Amino acid sequence: MNIIIFGPPGAGKGTQAEKLIEHYNLPHLSTGNIFRENIKNETLLGKKVKSIMDDGKLVPDETVVELVADELKKEKYNDGVILDGFPRTVTQAKTLDAFFEENNKKVDAFLTLDVPESELVKRILNRGEGRSDDTPEKIKTRLKVYREETEPVLNYYEVKGQAIHINGTGTIDDIFDRIKTALDS
Ligand code: AMP
Repeated sequence: MNIIIFGPPGAGKGTQAEKLIEHYNLPHLSTGNIFRENIKNETLLGKKVKSIMDDGKLVPDETVVELVADELKKEKYNDGVILDGFPRTVTQAKTLDAFFEENNKKVDAFLTLDVPESELVKRILNRGEGRSDDTPEKIKTRLKVYREETEPVLNYYEVKGQAIHINGTGTIDDIFDRIKTALDS
């Protein structure tokens, strides 16, 4: 099962992805985690993306797409994947579709977490992960980037009839129950 978990910054994608991984026994592919790991290890890729991430902007499509295509070729993703933080632009979504088609795979579910904007900012400021892009000013940029560049991805999957809206408010378990109900139905 190939599942995309989608939503604005602070919607709880990472948290719900962790629950999905455990419940459905699928591997996690978080582009943000891969970038943070590369920054920590001071790799070439890390050096390339650090200032972009620190500014709350998006890493260029070519870089992200190359990374994800290389990653998805690995055997561990043969039975499926939980994609978290990717695709974030319509170009990325189209490239993913083409990649899946070439490999006789498809997006089985596109889950979008609906959370009001006032709640998003509160959640990010409270999560205390020490991320350099979790400051009020950077959050503002990330939300703007989300609205301008990432939200069209939702429309792309809506048009294809694949988007499943999940109420992203309430407890972590409430939200996960809604996801399970949606996926199992
Ligand atoms: P995340 O952990 O998903 O919130 O991602 C953190 C940051 O990593 C984003 O604000 C972007 O700078 C970068 N990033 C992660 N995934 C992508 C992507 N699919 N496309 C472009 N930039 C990304």
